[in-house]
Formats: sequence, C-alpha cells, structure tokens
Amino acid sequence: MIQLACHKVKCPFSLIKQSRLVFASKDAIVMLDQFPVSEGHMLVIPRKHVANIYELSSKHQATIWMAVMRARTIAIKKYAPAGFNIGFNDGKAAGQTVGHAHIHVIPRYAGDRPDPRGGVRWVLPDKAKYWRE
Ligand SMILES: [Zn+2]
Repeated sequence: MIQLACHKVKCPFSLIKQSRLVFASKDAIVMLDQFPVSEGHMLVIPRKHVANIYELSSKHQATIWMAVMRARTIAIKKYAPAGFNIGFNDGKAAGQTVGHAHIHVIPRYAGDRPDPRGGVRWVLPDKAKYWRE
C-alpha cells in the first residue's frame, strides 16, 4: 500500500511505501529513510512540493517543526538513541539531491563514531575539528 505525499510528477516523494510511513499529519509526511545512516533515520517531508523549506509560510514551517519534534519523540521511544543530528541540505552546494524539501532526523547512538564531537560540522571534514586534544 502506498501513501501519496506529493502530486508533482517525477518527485521521489510522490509515492511512499506504507511500510516506510511513520506518520502523516495535515502538513507533513514522516517516513523512514530508504538508505538510513543510523537505525530510525527519518525524513520529515512537507506535503506541499517546495524545493526549500523557506518557501513555506512561517505558519507552515512551524507545523513542519512540530512534525520534527513528534518524529524525535517516536524515535526516542522506539530506538532509545543517545542523541540526534537534525537538519536539511539547503541547495546543491550543500548536498541537496532531491528537489522536494525534507528534514533529516538522525538518531545517534553512543559509540556509533569513535569521537562524535562537532556533529554536523563534519559535513566539511577538513574544518570540523576546531578543538585541541
Ligand atoms: Zn514533491
């Protein structure tokens, strides 16, 4: 069974497998990432097809953020992570490959990296480490 999330032709979020669906609200779909970087990696996707979160009204953005919080709560209950990295790739230069905005909710687990310090700073590995040992 599939859930319609977006009506745009050729959008990868136009059809979503029911098995990947975490929950759906009036404004957002939350699903498990097809290629998870950690157990419970979810995508929060606005139902409206926009390339960038900032194309949504501030009220709509607030409902997306509420869906992020709900996804985080579900992940805590189901997977018991030790932390999260939450964010999105804004533009091709930042690594955005899908033209429909979405927010990654990535549960983190103790020991999943030898030294997790810096978190999202590691998108640019050469500059991530700013501290001295
Ligand atoms: Zn779309």
